[in-house]
Amino acid sequence: MAPALAKKKARGHVVIIGGGAGGASVAHHLKKNAKKIDVTLIEPNATYTSCFFSNHFIGGFRSLNSLQHNYDGLKKIGVKVAHVLASDIDSAKKIVTLQEGQTLSYDKLVLSPGIEINYKAIEGYSEDVAKVMPHAWVTGAQAKNLRRQLLDMKDGGVVVISVPGNPYRCPSAPYERATLIAHYLKHYKPASKLIILDSKSLFPQMELFEEAWSSEYKDYVEWIPGDKHGGVVKVIANEMGIVTRNGDKMKADVVNIIPPQRASSIAVRAGCTDGDWCPITPDSFASKLVEDIFVLGDAATARNMPKSASSANSQAQIVANAIAAQLTGGKKFPPRYRNTCWSLLSTNNAIKSGASYTAGKEMVEQRTSFISEVKEDKGVRAENFKESLKWYDEITGDMFAKG
Ligand SMILES: Cc1cc2nc3c(=O)[nH]c(=O)nc-3n(C[C@H](O)[C@H](O)[C@H](O)COP(=O)(O)OP(=O)(O)OC[C@H]3O[C@@H](n4cnc5c(N)ncnc54)[C@H](O)[C@@H]3O)c2cc1C
Repeated sequence: MAPALAKKKARGHVVIIGGGAGGASVAHHLKKNAKKIDVTLIEPNATYTSCFFSNHFIGGFRSLNSLQHNYDGLKKIGVKVAHVLASDIDSAKKIVTLQEGQTLSYDKLVLSPGIEINYKAIEGYSEDVAKVMPHAWVTGAQAKNLRRQLLDMKDGGVVVISVPGNPYRCPSAPYERATLIAHYLKHYKPASKLIILDSKSLFPQMELFEEAWSSEYKDYVEWIPGDKHGGVVKVIANEMGIVTRNGDKMKADVVNIIPPQRASSIAVRAGCTDGDWCPITPDSFASKLVEDIFVLGDAATARNMPKSASSANSQAQIVANAIAAQLTGGKKFPPRYRNTCWSLLSTNNAIKSGASYTAGKEMVEQRTSFISEVKEDKGVRAENFKESLKWYDEITGDMFAKG
């Protein structure tokens, strides 16, 4: 018994909670670079539906099916995948409890459980109300619901999107969504209109989105900044009503509430959260609060690095390297992170922005950045779109060890 245990300890067992952009990528990179480490991925869903590019689906540019991926590639390279929810973590004993009651011990634990909607942040909003006023900020079912409501809406209808304050998953995605819904309205329901009730008065790639709204979607999009109304604080589902902080009341035909968010509750149960998110050390994404736990993706606080799939995938490579170095004594490389955000504005017309990052003493720090220009050539925008499709195939190929 003792020698077998010693052998297991020598190569180590890594448990990863969450099979999305962060967790699936860690699983792949760990198995690729340190084959002898046992890797178990805990993810309740047998099919992952990416939030990234879900706006393309909502706007009618892509099928939902094209956003869905399975875990066969990861299983093939030796990752043990358990389709079950992790329900608790005992970080002192280094044990994960699964929903069915089974337990798993770990040497290193990786948390990439993404976000949870903070239903309490908006009065009247709840999981049930989200069926009527979808957020479409987590699962495929929510995106499907929003798309269906847009298809069913009468011409002449009003769509409202409410946008939360920072930080939240994918900072530019509400504006891409608004743009692609406006594209749909312009082509299929031209008497309709979309109103964005933003909690903020500034947002990413603002000049670029505003350029598209004034040139391509004039009369379809109205963006109302937070300093005019204070953000959405209440919904009245049976009236399709929205109430803002300063008391304005509005009714709409389709209401897309994007509420404030926080790290998924398993991160709270692990003791890794400080407030809504998980503080991490910038050189490896190790939890600042709990030993032998790494937190990456949307659940982590990486300050300047946006909560995106691109960020999560980049962080995953550093996490995998750090864990492999700790368990096998291999080399730990200096951390270099990067992120690119793509936003589709209309057919063959995409913009991008991004940055590279390094580990500062306390935080991830930005080194270089780039952003599309206003009044850019159509050819450049078409090239961006092509690059974005390639990016989607590459990141999902990397997450799920395809090919
Ligand atoms: C509309 C929209 C558009 C977006 N567009 C882009 C884009 O163009 N580019 C980009 O880079 N990013 C984009 N994003 C952001 C991107 O989807 C997220 O940042 C990314 O998915 C975060 O990865 P993650 O691993 O933290 O979380 P996720 O990918 O959400 O994965 C988390 C996984 O953890 C699982 N999980 C949760 N709790 C548990 C538990 N207790 N036990 C086991 N498993 C659990 C969940 O089932 C889920 O599969 C977009 C997001 C939205 C909403």
